[in-house]
Amino acid sequence: MAKKLPLHTKIVLGLLLGVIWALFSSYLGFSTFTINYLLPFGTIFINLLKLIAIPLVLFSIITGITGLKDISALGRIGAKTIAIYLSTTIIAITVGLVLVNTLSPGKHIDNEQRIINRISYELWVKQTPGMSVIDQQHFLTDPKFESYVADAQRKMEFDQSSDLVRSNLQTVEKQKTSRPLDWIVDMVPSNIFNSLSSGLMLQIIFFAVFFGVTIVLLPKEKMTYVIGFCDGANDIFIKMVDLVMKAAPLFVFALLAGKLAEMAGNDPSRLVEIFKALGFYSIVVVLGLAIMVFVIYPGIVSAVISRKTKMGYFESLRYFLKGIRPAQLLAFSTSSSAATLPITMECVRDNLKVDEEVSSFVLPIGATVNMDGTSLYQGVAVVFLAQFHFIDLTIAQQMAILLTATLASIGSAAVPSAGLIMLIIVLESVGLNPAWIAIIFPIDRILDMCRTVVNVTGDAAVSVIVAQSENRLHLKEES
Ligand code: ASP
Repeated sequence: MAKKLPLHTKIVLGLLLGVIWALFSSYLGFSTFTINYLLPFGTIFINLLKLIAIPLVLFSIITGITGLKDISALGRIGAKTIAIYLSTTIIAITVGLVLVNTLSPGKHIDNEQRIINRISYELWVKQTPGMSVIDQQHFLTDPKFESYVADAQRKMEFDQSSDLVRSNLQTVEKQKTSRPLDWIVDMVPSNIFNSLSSGLMLQIIFFAVFFGVTIVLLPKEKMTYVIGFCDGANDIFIKMVDLVMKAAPLFVFALLAGKLAEMAGNDPSRLVEIFKALGFYSIVVVLGLAIMVFVIYPGIVSAVISRKTKMGYFESLRYFLKGIRPAQLLAFSTSSSAATLPITMECVRDNLKVDEEVSSFVLPIGATVNMDGTSLYQGVAVVFLAQFHFIDLTIAQQMAILLTATLASIGSAAVPSAGLIMLIIVLESVGLNPAWIAIIFPIDRILDMCRTVVNVTGDAAVSVIVAQSENRLHLKEES
């Protein structure tokens, strides 16, 4: 019976059992057991996926390029990919900003608390060189609010003292590039082994494209063995994905049980408390993400494919969401688009019928530069935190958020919590206190799981669009 269940159903079961196990272990007080003896299997799962992802990207891009009839298609596909990725990111941030401005989750808290928060913000501005209050209001010097200053001082000191904030601020300082073209320089590796061992995806993509194009430029007879080797290696890694996926339901169970146990500890009421404080904010983020997954992407995909295939709107909607489902489930479980990449590649190739020459190129780039979920989340988070501190951001300031969130999502690594770290940059860019990430940190893992689903779905949607525009979408009448 269990054998007959499709894989994605088994993964869903694994997810559900993981949640149930975590709840029990938290209520009955054996969370430490779960963390010590189940979570390691979740970590093994992520390690296996990452192990496959890097060589798979390398060989699939090389095989993709050597299989191209016309090498000039590469430049065209690349340009389209980047343009569409940027457009979907802008759409995502806009959805987030519209929702957070209309639903105002940060304003639904006690007014006194917001005043204290506001004054703590002004105190932070006062002690930070080069900062000024971003709206022209001054609560700190207003005698009406004098009685709140002591509380605000305490809050500000508490915000600044968090270890989480300190270590993340240091990470961001290190990541900041000093010159405008540094990001291009960073894409060109000086030592490919170094790039491979550090998993620097853009450098690996650069090398693979360079290698693939050079093969094409050399006489075919001389390249037979190299091409055969890359083809074979590609097949091996694709098969490895299949093998790992067979055990995915169990791995997913262990991963989720372990991660939730880490969050809840032996006191499940902690989860309830976290949700009470950040519930409305989380709902706005999840609503925005759901709009992307269930409305925007399927809408765009069906608009693009239903013109050329006989599929109606709902049919193409089903084709897209059903095809990408296994990757979505894994994105949700692992919180990492990089770890999910091998499965995304499989789903897009086998279920969505995108030519491998397109998917092998578009998806790895997407895993690194296209993070619609992350950027939507950053837009919502910044405006929510501003509202929470009694700050109304102007349209111009929100446009600045749109720009920095787009750039930050390109710069975010495709790993858990990368979006939270990049949020520091977005907050700083509009003149807000980066230490505020500590406020939303408690709910971050869960939101991270959801935004990773969007990141992966966005990459898949763009692959379909690019493939269709290149006549490389191999859809039959009925899929
Ligand atoms: N975890 C996300 C991803 O891998 C990035 C983030 O939003 O933190 O796509």
